[in-house]
Amino acid sequence: MNFCDIALQSVTQLQPYVPGKPIEELERQYGVTNIVKLASNENPLGPSPRVLAAVQQASKSLSLYPDGNGFSLKSALAEKYQLELNQITLGNGSNDVLEIIARTFVSAEDEVLYSQYTFAVYPIVTQAIGAKGVVAPAVDFGHDLDAMANLITDRTKVIFIANPNNPTGTYLAADKLEAFVANVPQQTLVVLDEAYVEYGDQDVDTMSWLAIYPNLIITRTFSKAYGLAGLRVGFALSNPDVADLINRVRQPFNVNSLALAAATVALTDDDYLVETKNTNDAGMKQLTAACDAMGLAYIPSKANFITVDVETNANEVFEALLQQGVIVRPIGGYGLPQHLRVSIGLESENQRFIDTLATILGRT
Ligand SMILES: *Cc1c(COP(=O)(O)O)cnc(C)c1O
Repeated sequence: MNFCDIALQSVTQLQPYVPGKPIEELERQYGVTNIVKLASNENPLGPSPRVLAAVQQASKSLSLYPDGNGFSLKSALAEKYQLELNQITLGNGSNDVLEIIARTFVSAEDEVLYSQYTFAVYPIVTQAIGAKGVVAPAVDFGHDLDAMANLITDRTKVIFIANPNNPTGTYLAADKLEAFVANVPQQTLVVLDEAYVEYGDQDVDTMSWLAIYPNLIITRTFSKAYGLAGLRVGFALSNPDVADLINRVRQPFNVNSLALAAATVALTDDDYLVETKNTNDAGMKQLTAACDAMGLAYIPSKANFITVDVETNANEVFEALLQQGVIVRPIGGYGLPQHLRVSIGLESENQRFIDTLATILGRT
């Protein structure tokens, strides 16, 4: 029996998501210790002590189902963003919400539009449904909004835009992005994925757009700046009618009780967020200066990672770094075979990467 014969054809053609290599796996495979992981855009500070205390407290109730409506977390989000509770959909990570949005609105006859060099989850959730993914060519490694606008058809149900973008870190200015959203037909949803928004300059309040554009959905996550990637919690903000539909498809207990407790506290931990941003800004300077010194080009980034052109087969450089206990992310699967994506770590971690890379490339 070849089960590919009975699976959806779109699924048999799906490229599985390739996650960053876990530290334990590298330890097992190469026998190296003292590993530095700069591969998954995680927060190098680790979780905040206030969040850890909340998780410990919540762990006493592990025998109970979580609050399926996530009331406390939704209330905290509504307060922070000045929105109503019925505009919020919680997810087991924002990946979960992205998938639920696709399953709520997209059928096999529809099209989903996204850019070249953008987040791998968009094609996965699209193809899993059997819908057609339409890829707009990128400009300078980022979204070309004109090219995207030209590819909208009667069948385009969802447009995914990551801002800042992953894996390139590129950023769309708010005025250009809003002009694009304003011109998208109302029957096409725009999903603005702001997983890295906290690292940017924060001068624009995209939340205020929700009141103007009913077809806009904004997604955010606790996995990056809030340091909770392991707990899996993210959310979508939208028009209440859209949220009502998405919430029907969502599994009733998709966010676990520890994640709910942690995220609710994390949202109020401003000091942690400031330290996160400062650490990232300093690390970004450190890494870009090192790239300049080595004569390596990089894509200007507004996120917590930087994508570097190593001018050779990046997979080989990735492997050589692994041997030395440094995990980064090759992005050949995204069509960038000479680039490595490097998450910003602590100063010592960044330096370990820089020194190891310089040795491998002979650019010391
Ligand atoms: C990391 C990331 C997310 C967040 O994923 P979670 O499921 O919330 O951990 C979403 N979108 C993009 C573009 C990302 O890079």
